[in-house]
Amino acid sequence: MKMRSCPNCEKSISLDIEICPHCNQQVPPLPNYPSANPKWFMVLWGFFVILIIALLISMFSVR
Ligand SMILES: [Zn+2]
Repeated sequence: MKMRSCPNCEKSISLDIEICPHCNQQVPPLPNYPSANPKWFMVLWGFFVILIIALLISMFSVR
């Protein structure tokens, strides 16, 4: 289970609870952490695959 720290008392609490068991304060919902953008990664990966395929086709067409 993932943990985070309570913004009120700074103790570690579970990610999915709404009220801190240590200080009984309501915990605000989690902000959306800026994770690595999967779309951008997919575009890069697709470009890489197309490049490899194009390279293979050009290698085979030479012979
Ligand atoms: Zn707390």
